[in-house]
Amino acid sequence: MPTLDIPNAQFSKKQWLLSELQSAGLRIGAAARTAPSRSGGAGPTDHKAVTVHGSTIMVPIHTRGAASSPFSTGEIAENGSAPLFYEGETIATVQFPPEPKFYALSTADGIPYWKIAQLHSERVLATTLLQTCIRYGNSTTRCQFCAIGESLKAGRTIKEKSPTQLAEVAAAAKRLDRIDNVVLTTGTPPTPDRGAAVLAAAAYAIKQATHLPIQAQCEPPDDFQWFVKLLASGVDSLGMHLEAWDEQVRHRIMPGKAEVPTSYYLEAFSAAVKVFGRGQVSTYLLAGLGDSVDSLLSGCRQLISLGVYPFVVPFVPVTGTPLAGHPPPSAEFMTAVLAPLGAMLTEAGMTSDTVKAGCAKCGACSSLSSFEKSPSTTCSHA
Ligand code: SF4
Repeated sequence: MPTLDIPNAQFSKKQWLLSELQSAGLRIGAAARTAPSRSGGAGPTDHKAVTVHGSTIMVPIHTRGAASSPFSTGEIAENGSAPLFYEGETIATVQFPPEPKFYALSTADGIPYWKIAQLHSERVLATTLLQTCIRYGNSTTRCQFCAIGESLKAGRTIKEKSPTQLAEVAAAAKRLDRIDNVVLTTGTPPTPDRGAAVLAAAAYAIKQATHLPIQAQCEPPDDFQWFVKLLASGVDSLGMHLEAWDEQVRHRIMPGKAEVPTSYYLEAFSAAVKVFGRGQVSTYLLAGLGDSVDSLLSGCRQLISLGVYPFVVPFVPVTGTPLAGHPPPSAEFMTAVLAPLGAMLTEAGMTSDTVKAGCAKCGACSSLSSFEKSPSTTCSHA
């Protein structure tokens, strides 16, 4: 049986496998292709949820790199399991979550529920409220990694989701598929609230219908009173996504969004933590876009000291975006960031299991949570 080459004895085999899978991607058999996956949409995408060694992670499958990954799967059994191969040899068994039951339903006016919201990982209902963005239509402002317009163009979603539609879908997803939290994100509208108003309206309707924990994600609004309004509307956790730490990287990768300087994000984080609490405010940092290990860790240290959870995820090159050919970070790079970051979060008492809702709680887009609370200086290779 082949063994994964674990270059550093401080990592367990599981931590290494999760990081390798997210970096290299997975070639899947034809049958496994029918399991739910994310293609297009806001932020990181082109993934499929895969459970391996008890952890569910999102693994790239639709990307160019995944087509030549050393990882592949065989035939999927009726119970959703399939052998995981590394260079053709079996190394583990993986599980694909079944198609959610709520995907079979439609609204009274004929819109399929899956076009309104999607299952992420195992228990998260996620939706992009506004599937358009002021920055997306122009190559001088567009975030280079984003595919928010692609799923709309392909007819896999609708342009705007109303609070009523969302409440209906969330109630069904809770009842039929045991969804336990909701992620609301949005393309950035041309209004100074940066989408906070539509997020508040949607959160209110979903909370009334389901009482589920909700994370809202937007750019920092002009008026930080929006944080109080979001909380009052039922939002439990807030994400404001820097995406990269170094200003030069930010300007190169997302020229429009980088017009909002990191210093303004830091002000917004401080104000939001006062409202939502330590660890209930988070940010995405995409590793592999140019930030060094040291730069990411120094940024994370600063963010944690403000009470912000830095959700560091490996960049996934998405088909149809300007960065489709950009390589993902190596597993070595990811573990060099995630191992010390996991220890920092553990020490700060801000681990993912303390987050009420959203990406930091779900954790499927990064192996970060596997490095939290782990005795990272010892190796079990288990
Ligand atoms: S971490 Fe966020 S984007 Fe990734 S699967 Fe979970 S909810 Fe979706």
